[in-house]
Amino acid sequence: MSGETGTTEITMTENAMTEKDVLVIVDVQNDFCSGGALAVPGGEEVVPVINRLAARFRHVVLTQDWHPAGHRSFASEHPGHEPLETVEAPYGPQILWPDHCIQGTSGAAFREDLDTNRAELIIRKGFRRDIDSYSAFFENDHATPTGLTGYLRERGFTRVVLAGLAFDFCVRYSAEDARRQGFAVAVVDEACRAIDVAGSAADTRRRFTELGIASLAAAAA
Ligand SMILES: [Zn+2]
Repeated sequence: MSGETGTTEITMTENAMTEKDVLVIVDVQNDFCSGGALAVPGGEEVVPVINRLAARFRHVVLTQDWHPAGHRSFASEHPGHEPLETVEAPYGPQILWPDHCIQGTSGAAFREDLDTNRAELIIRKGFRRDIDSYSAFFENDHATPTGLTGYLRERGFTRVVLAGLAFDFCVRYSAEDARRQGFAVAVVDEACRAIDVAGSAADTRRRFTELGIASLAAAAA
């Protein structure tokens, strides 16, 4: 990202991580890694980067995609449709996915090598059958809150740093919503991997620049 117009690159320094900074680790679950139902290319490669990153933060939150069987975002619920096709949901266009992250399954579990011990909160999303939730803040109707905004505000956090899977979906929507909710936001590129459907990774970078979402280098971690 360095050198791209409008992108702010911040290098992490000792004093960058304060009581007001929270690392939100998005959906580092088996189904989003190699061999999983909705594998993000290279998804598991983020784990060591995130573990090192998390060790530098005083506060860490995890998100977990957590669907009931038969969730409306699953292509299997839409006869005649294949994964990655888009259908019209009451709340707008919805990309259809393979069945993934079903509550209580090993696919929905966090990667075993992800250090989850320091997480102060695990926020689950996508548990309503009829609505998907990419963002950790709002479901895909952009109106139903997960409660994360209130939690972060009450804890006094002012900056949200994001890492995880997938860069162009759950990380993207979480970052955009965090910005709209008034937090300073940064995304650690090296700690994310993209699905990249129809240019979605490039779209994400463009939106981040427009919204003033910073790219944070993990190099110093
Ligand atoms: Zn999902």
